[in-house]
Amino acid sequence: MGRYTDSVCRQCRREGEKLFLKGDRCYSEKCAVERKPYPPGANARKRRQKQSEYGLQLREKQKTRKIYGVMEKQFRNYFKKADRQKGITGTNLLVLLERRLDNVVYRLGFASSRAEARQLVNHGHFTINGRKATIPSMLVKVGDIIQVKEGSRDSNKFQEIKEQAAYKTPPEWLSVDVENLSGSVLAYPLREQIDTTVNEQLIIELYSR
Ligand code: SF4
Repeated sequence: MGRYTDSVCRQCRREGEKLFLKGDRCYSEKCAVERKPYPPGANARKRRQKQSEYGLQLREKQKTRKIYGVMEKQFRNYFKKADRQKGITGTNLLVLLERRLDNVVYRLGFASSRAEARQLVNHGHFTINGRKATIPSMLVKVGDIIQVKEGSRDSNKFQEIKEQAAYKTPPEWLSVDVENLSGSVLAYPLREQIDTTVNEQLIIELYSR
């Protein structure tokens, strides 16, 4: 499976906005979008000015994939699934992306970025309803309890995460118990509860061509 080989911060500069891919650094003055608020590469500014409707739709889709760390094929599968569901396809798509375990771990404040959340999940530090969960793309359901596994809770890493999580506020559709490093899914998010800066309509238009 292909992976991005470009520098993470270059991806943000290419999209012209902060995608918050690097955790704490994104909130500091070291952020590359703050330091170099123009696209990477020679003549990139000129190229951006000439963007067609298709180009805009494509960029929105690429941006969304980067935010959630999802590869093309998987992203298209999310779209197909969203399209089969009742309701608004664009909202369904975002809800599916939000329900990914790596995203939920990040939203609960147990990782500083989705990439870190993915790594922690991969390394077997989390359980869902008491069962080990090592697949970042697993979709959580309403009522699921996501928790750092017992053997990991006392590690320095998770003690540090615990301290930081105490200062974070999860979205309304999740509840968090920082002391026990656990969280639960109260409901699926409403569109207005998803703070990602995505125009999902552009993605729908792209896939409907
Ligand atoms: Fe993007 Fe974060 Fe890098 Fe800033 S620091 S460019 S928000 S990944």
